[in-house]
Amino acid sequence: MSRHAPVFCLALWVVGLLTAMVGWRACAEDTDEFKAARLYMVEHDIARSGWAREGVKDPTVLEAMRTVLRHEFVPESSRDEAYADHPLPIGHGQTISQPYIVAYMTEMLKLKPEHTVLEIGTGSGYQAAVLAEIARKVYTVEIIEPLAARAAETLKKRGYENVEVKHGDGYFGWPEHGPFDAIIVTAAASHIPPPLVEQLKPGGCMAIPVGPPLQTQNLILVEKLEDGAVRRRSVMPVRFVPLTRSEGTK
Ligand code: SAH
Repeated sequence: MSRHAPVFCLALWVVGLLTAMVGWRACAEDTDEFKAARLYMVEHDIARSGWAREGVKDPTVLEAMRTVLRHEFVPESSRDEAYADHPLPIGHGQTISQPYIVAYMTEMLKLKPEHTVLEIGTGSGYQAAVLAEIARKVYTVEIIEPLAARAAETLKKRGYENVEVKHGDGYFGWPEHGPFDAIIVTAAASHIPPPLVEQLKPGGCMAIPVGPPLQTQNLILVEKLEDGAVRRRSVMPVRFVPLTRSEGTK
């Protein structure tokens, strides 16, 4: 036996132990119960068409919804409800959207793996994670600082290195990183912010709820055509928390 053998064996043992620990951590974060609830959510609440609702078909969106651990993005006290098809409170008077709406709006963007996406309204970071499973890069803006900080931390912990979170008023987009292949706004605006239309690439899609706060709004698909013309189409009634504005910018 070579004199290096004991050192080699010890190194192997340490690597084995570390691998086991990492494996155990992954298991601790996703349980069979959560996994079953997630798969049920996708098949039953998202992919299936129902009364007055069209099932989501895009396989890449469905796969992203199967992959992202939604229970990691909701407060611990709501984890048992993480995969139910309704919004949940995330603190500061805000909510994480219902899974069906997250999937539907993601499908509206017609994302490709090479795309760069802008999200306005980071909230918990869950929608950003879904986008990051499909697109190359996600920029997301949140107006409430503690939510922006918490989402950035959760996304980092989950290994989403292709997401950048900024604290600020998303009405103005993130011009330094634009133009974007797709834009998603997850708070209800009184009108479509012109800076966001400007930051959308020709050929790009934007999904945005537009309407009065605390009432039913219209989910609008904004398409910028290759010649720069802009088309808007209302796709369904929705209810979102309002897009608020920072002081001095209203
Ligand atoms: N997409 C989120 C849920 C969004 S809730 C998720 O997956 O969890 C809407 C979020 O929009 C809230 O966190 C709210 O603080 C934020 N918001 C409201 N107005 C905003 C603005 N002008 N700019 C950026 N974020 C805004």
